[in-house]
Amino acid sequence: MKKVAFFPGSFDPFTKGHADIVMRGLKLFDEVIIGIGTNSTKKRYFPIEKMTEKIRETFNDNEKVKIISYDDLTANAAVANEANFLLRGLRNTTDFEYENTISQVNRHLVGGLETVFLITSPELAPISSTIVRELHKYGAKVDDYLPYDLD
Ligand code: ADP
Repeated sequence: MKKVAFFPGSFDPFTKGHADIVMRGLKLFDEVIIGIGTNSTKKRYFPIEKMTEKIRETFNDNEKVKIISYDDLTANAAVANEANFLLRGLRNTTDFEYENTISQVNRHLVGGLETVFLITSPELAPISSTIVRELHKYGAKVDDYLPYDLD
């Protein structure tokens, strides 16, 4: 059976921390689908089109990485894209508390849909999309946190 992982997130923006999870996921899975969740009630800071383009640029030559956007329950989006695993990163206990619950719900929604967690690489643990957005908003340099050039 082909092992396909669905890596869901807001990716607003996609950071070096996310890229690290994808690259390490590729050692475990035949394919990693990056699913950009487009919750229609939540306004994004970085437009979805721009982020899709930047992520594509990051994994340009890798045919095992796909990028899609979805407005659905994550478990349903994973099934719709023929993924059999969810992939998530864990930075700290706060991530764990949340992920613990959501992974149980996802497995309940779609029987057999296992979530695989990768512990973040220590040097990337402090990076969060929220902090990058805040820095960018006030004109600070964010290149160190992103695997692509923003402009
Ligand atoms: P969400 O909106 O679902 O929280 P994010 O875009 O913030 O989505 O993150 C998507 C996934 O990437 C989550 O599993 C999150 O824990 C993980 N992640 C975020 N930042 C990092 C990082 N610096 N290192 C490793 N994993 C990360």
